Amino acid sequence: MSECTHDCSSCSSNCGSRQQPQSLLIPANALSDVKHVVGIVSGKGGVGKSLVTSMLAVLLQRVGFKVGILDADITGPSIPKAFGMHNVEVFGDQNGMIPPRTKTGIDMISVNLLLGSDETKPVIWRGSMIAGTVQQFWKETIWDVDVLLVDCPPGTGDVPLTVFQSLPLDGVVIVSSPQDLVSMIVSKAANMAKMMNVPVLGLVENMSYIKCPDCGKEIKVFGESHIEEVAEKFGYDLLARIPMDSKLAALVDRGMIELMENDYMEKAAFSIIEKLGLSQE
Ligand code: ADP
Repeated sequence: MSECTHDCSSCSSNCGSRQQPQSLLIPANALSDVKHVVGIVSGKGGVGKSLVTSMLAVLLQRVGFKVGILDADITGPSIPKAFGMHNVEVFGDQNGMIPPRTKTGIDMISVNLLLGSDETKPVIWRGSMIAGTVQQFWKETIWDVDVLLVDCPPGTGDVPLTVFQSLPLDGVVIVSSPQDLVSMIVSKAANMAKMMNVPVLGLVENMSYIKCPDCGKEIKVFGESHIEEVAEKFGYDLLARIPMDSKLAALVDRGMIELMENDYMEKAAFSIIEKLGLSQE
């Protein structure tokens, strides 16, 4: 079969010869039942991607969905800590692993739950090993969830790309902070999502401001945000702007994110429910 030689995305001819890109999707565990998969991505580490994933999981669980978190941020696995999951045993047999459950019933798998007791030991692995571990988390865990949130490896390089290609993502949420070169990061993440044919569900800006405890004024610690312009430029929804909040940081540190009372991500959670067409059976 001969291949066409022009840019098919902008032509109107019927290119019957155009070959579909080879699917690199990894099959799920035969016993898994996963209705939707959402990736949470960021341009770099430390912008709050894991926090956003955790908050979203808590909110979706609170409104009645069965939620799982696949912690694919292998070198910075902070999800178990936010939920107070320490020294938890992961059970399994030849059929697969049973993801441990948090206090409120969120299923989770993370390298920190499997590497034994020393959570402070850094994971210094090559990219292929990181990507392989994420793929294993997908195919060897027995998931039974309405929505699986994947806390993706940070960045837009080889490892996040492999994760993107391996999992059947229904959409991605892009997290950034005002410090980021947000336009560039969104553009790279958008390209990656487009290549994989995965919709961008929206943007979340974290660490947007601090609220003055006395007068309530929003103080823009990192300067003016450009997130609204960027959202408009790319045609994406701005799902949330989360302030720096010491209460939130304390909840994460104490492993009690499930007790959070803020409404920073509420609109975002409902928007995602709507976009995915999530419904309870
Ligand atoms: P990432 O997953 O992008 O590497 P994390 O979610 O692990 O980042 O966040 C890095 C650190 O910053 C964590 O200790 C987290 O609790 C803290 N943090 C993130 N966002 C906020 C916020 N809005 N307010 C307070 N602390 C935050």
